[in-house]
Amino acid sequence: MSDDCLFCKIVKREVESRFLFEDDICVVFKDIHPAAPVHLLIVPKKHIRSVNDLISEEESIVSHLFMVARDMAKEQGVDQSGYKLLFNVEKGGGQVIFHLHLHLIGGWKR
Ligand code: 5GP
Ligand code: ZN
Repeated sequence: MSDDCLFCKIVKREVESRFLFEDDICVVFKDIHPAAPVHLLIVPKKHIRSVNDLISEEESIVSHLFMVARDMAKEQGVDQSGYKLLFNVEKGGGQVIFHLHLHLIGGWKR
């Protein structure tokens, strides 16, 4: 937990957000400024700043985020049409919330 981290506050339900999924490792909620018809954030409960800060013991957390993303894509009906999975890393990579999160983006009509 980082005291002034928005996603830690969302994970602890100190900031309002509706979870589409939750387990021991992560939560999933909609991005507040969606970049596509489907834009979910898959967020580990553990505070990790970015991909740069991952340690080997956290490898299973990252693989779990991808498996949850796969399931959420199916649940949202974009698994066959296709989607993007994205980690922004640090400022130059577009990261603005410094708590690791995987973007699931899709649902475009093509
Ligand atoms: P980043 O650019 O750090 O990879 O992505 C952060 C994402 O969090 C952005 O897409 C932004 O729209 C989203 N976001 C920022 N604040 C909130 C919030 O309070 N609630 C939700 N649901 N999403 C947020
Ligand atoms: Zn955090």
